[in-house]
Amino acid sequence: MTQTLLNELRQQLGDAAILTGVDIEARYRKAYFSAEAENTRPLAVVRPRSTDEVAAVLRLCQRYRQPVVTQGGMTGLSGGALPADGELILSLERLCGIEEIDSMAGTLTALAGTPLQEIQEAAAEKGFLVAIDLGARGSCHIAGNVATNAGGNRVIRYGMARQQVLGLEAVLADGTVISSLNKMLKNNAGFDLKQLFIGSEGTLGVITRVVLKLEPLPSCVQTALCAVASYADVVKLLRHAQRRLSGRISAFEVMWSDFYTFVTTRLPGQRAPLPVGSPFYVLLDLQGSDAASDAALFEMMLEEAFTAELIQDAVVAASDKETQALWKLRDAPGEFPLAWPTIASFDISLPIGRIGEFVEALRPRLDAEFPGCEVVHFGHIGDSNLHVCVHVPGSTDATFPEHAIKDCLYGLLRDYAGSVSAEHGIGTYKRDYLAYSRSPEEIALMHTLKAAMDPQGILNPGRVLP
Ligand SMILES: Cc1cc2nc3c(=O)[nH]c(=O)nc-3n(C[C@H](O)[C@H](O)[C@H](O)COP(=O)(O)OP(=O)(O)OC[C@H]3O[C@@H](n4cnc5c(N)ncnc54)[C@H](O)[C@@H]3O)c2cc1C
Repeated sequence: MTQTLLNELRQQLGDAAILTGVDIEARYRKAYFSAEAENTRPLAVVRPRSTDEVAAVLRLCQRYRQPVVTQGGMTGLSGGALPADGELILSLERLCGIEEIDSMAGTLTALAGTPLQEIQEAAAEKGFLVAIDLGARGSCHIAGNVATNAGGNRVIRYGMARQQVLGLEAVLADGTVISSLNKMLKNNAGFDLKQLFIGSEGTLGVITRVVLKLEPLPSCVQTALCAVASYADVVKLLRHAQRRLSGRISAFEVMWSDFYTFVTTRLPGQRAPLPVGSPFYVLLDLQGSDAASDAALFEMMLEEAFTAELIQDAVVAASDKETQALWKLRDAPGEFPLAWPTIASFDISLPIGRIGEFVEALRPRLDAEFPGCEVVHFGHIGDSNLHVCVHVPGSTDATFPEHAIKDCLYGLLRDYAGSVSAEHGIGTYKRDYLAYSRSPEEIALMHTLKAAMDPQGILNPGRVLP
């Protein structure tokens, strides 16, 4: 039956669109931060060039009950795009390109497989900002961003993908094309169907086109790194900066002392703009369009924070180069594998006011269960998003207690009513912990939606839902 399916796929899409056997390169089976590909045997890779071809693929897969895993740029951090044995990989890499920038409507329409960076650059040429922005911008695809409801660096000002997407086109498991390419900010005509596909990680349909909202392109940025004495002061600084900068604060990144010390003393090429030893470091920036008045406002905000003793020390970037040097600190997690061969990374969220006490409660638990472990904390705290990375010195891939670390951390998180996924999604890595953050009734409704939209369960089976 699988041979018949492959033959029919070749007939409909052409031989070049289907890869099998040794032609399936390792990149289709490799997690972003892994050195090696997974040892799985997918049936084939199918690379459609149009929505009609995606629909044809799914119609055939539905007929033959063939499980499908959808792939974008393969930068996801929850395992959702990695194929299992026998799955058909539906790669959107050839369904790419920017179709339209509508300056009057302030929208950009792109095909699923267009890299985020290409979209950002095209919008910038026309004087617009695409507000979704993350470290993997050069590799991730816009539909992958939407399927995971990606957040990133500018969420505090512009929101996540859910807030940036005005419309989309998606193909259901039976091949039905849902064209919902809305360009209007307001549209309350019935259910907002696009939201079913945003953040559902490819389990309810395959996104083929996206309409993004464009923002005015800022022309200047003010950036500072501040040393802060307590978590309570971190939150007061956040509220102070939001008030004084009239909501224009565009990043509020917090690094705990453990993160700052680790990055500046253990990673090559990093330097410490402020001395180590402060309990917290806050990287904040203001994007605007009038350098002189923005700088004056930013400095006044910082001076007031000093006077109120919310900050103990600060450096303000005086050039683009200095801004980049400050951001290099915050972007350091991509280099953690250089110092830590084994690592458990967490992307969680909690109400902003409780993040400090959560971290204080977590540390002794980890120390007790994993003596000698090294832990760093950092995150987009203005978005209630905390990242935690844990390493156990001397451990190897075979001995690293990743599952036990997850049980420990997620167990505490459940007590705090936090979320096991702030922005990376559930995929397969966090599927067993979904019930820590969602009620049985919520999960039952998710299953009802899944059964209605994909009755044979062929789309990304085993992802997200337990
Ligand atoms: C260095 C780095 C930094 C990152 N920083 C951030 C960050 O700041 N904020 C953040 O939110 N995330 C971040 N991420 C993770 C983020 O989720 C991904 O980078 C990105 O959004 C996924 O896009 P992708 O095209 O690579 O999708 P993939 O990894 O290919 O897929 C991810 C999921 O989406 C599904 N999917 C992909 N394409 C489609 C489609 N067309 N239709 C339906 N489903 C689809 C897949 O099946 C899978 O479940 C980061 C990742 C890296 C490697």
